[in-house]
Amino acid sequence: MTHRFNELHDALRGVDGIRFADDFRFSDATTLHLGGRPVGAVHCATPDALATAVSRADSLDLPLLVVGGGSNLVVADGDLPLIAVAVDCSEIDIDTDTGFLRADAGAVWDDVVSASIDAGLGGIECLSGIPGSAGATPVQNVGAYGAEIADVLTRVLLLDRATGTVEWVSAGALDLGYRTSNLKHTGRGVVLAIELQLRTDGLSAPLRFGELARRLGVTAADAGAPGTVRRPASAVRDAVLELRRGKGMVHDPADHDTWSAGSFFTNPVIATADAAAVRDAVARLHGAAVADAMPCYPAGEGHSKLSAAWLIERAGFVRGYPGPEASVRLSTLHTLALTNRGGATTADLVGLAREVRAGVRDAFGVTLHPEPVWVGVDIDG
Ligand SMILES: Cc1cc2nc3c(=O)[nH]c(=O)nc-3n(C[C@H](O)[C@H](O)[C@H](O)COP(=O)(O)OP(=O)(O)OC[C@H]3O[C@@H](n4cnc5c(N)ncnc54)[C@H](O)[C@@H]3O)c2cc1C
Repeated sequence: MTHRFNELHDALRGVDGIRFADDFRFSDATTLHLGGRPVGAVHCATPDALATAVSRADSLDLPLLVVGGGSNLVVADGDLPLIAVAVDCSEIDIDTDTGFLRADAGAVWDDVVSASIDAGLGGIECLSGIPGSAGATPVQNVGAYGAEIADVLTRVLLLDRATGTVEWVSAGALDLGYRTSNLKHTGRGVVLAIELQLRTDGLSAPLRFGELARRLGVTAADAGAPGTVRRPASAVRDAVLELRRGKGMVHDPADHDTWSAGSFFTNPVIATADAAAVRDAVARLHGAAVADAMPCYPAGEGHSKLSAAWLIERAGFVRGYPGPEASVRLSTLHTLALTNRGGATTADLVGLAREVRAGVRDAFGVTLHPEPVWVGVDIDG
């Protein structure tokens, strides 16, 4: 491995925009502040450099991990048999006449949102405050407050790792779904840049999320059907950031309550026919009134979506669980975030993740699935 990494070093010598680093640690590069060391790291300052680095590493058969903001990664402790490819390219281009926005993969996503609003565009304000890079947004089709990147993504500049070709690929070819795409867990392609089509009137996307609409003073008397009201994008961004901060969902290196990977589990999607059994299990533990209040939303033909946070809380895991002495805890603001309080290891985190998952499964028969990408470690052991 080290030998092949040295070969990569030689192959990329003199290529513009490439920098090697031998002090890369995942604990410095992830928002959980956890994880060990790769064999080496290559920083790529332009989309061309990123494509070249990945293609050369692939031709040497070197296992690699593309790292954006590290906000959706659970990485094993210790030495890892892979190289880190850090995405550092960060240009943002905005055409205010047409509403097209292009961002390099390494642009900080929240800078993209902020720049779009400063330029008078609307459409991604609900995605304010999501940590990480622009290039990772299609990977799990990031979403929040009733919006997702699929709503505005037109195409991505993609390196196809099987063929080595670089071309613009339409969003429709990425199978974007709830916190997923055909890029997630496959590593089949590397996003070099993204293109969005935004609104030129400066208004937000329709406010589909009740809590956010209420925060913005939207009432039943407002014109239009529910979920169609729009507000100035800047006002929506401010409200979203305020709501997110209240839940510890804006990463702050000074605040351990935000040292997380965001929502640790996706909301479970189950066959609608099975929802009654879950409700019965809730009723047995907490009574009929609580069971009747169980969040359960339509999720496509024959399927329903439950709330992972609600189930975790009803299974007995309170905010801050298991307590102030633990190095890994549920956030004190949001039960769905597992947080590193400073001295934790990935093994500690995995232990708590397994305990929460088993607790929910034992109580309600529902298996939660982690949202982040796991590297060198597995929740199933
Ligand atoms: C406090 C907090 C709040 C969060 N809130 C939300 C939220 O509201 N909604 C939401 O959807 N997510 C949320 N997340 C999760 C996370 O921010 C997003 O998934 C984000 O898009 C990850 O971006 P990243 O650059 O940090 O990706 P990384 O963590 O660096 O990588 C994640 C995966 O994407 C791959 N990847 C990264 N860049 C590329 C690329 N250019 N091409 C191909 N693959 C790539 C990596 O190899 C890895 O498999 C939150 C996370 C935190 C810490």
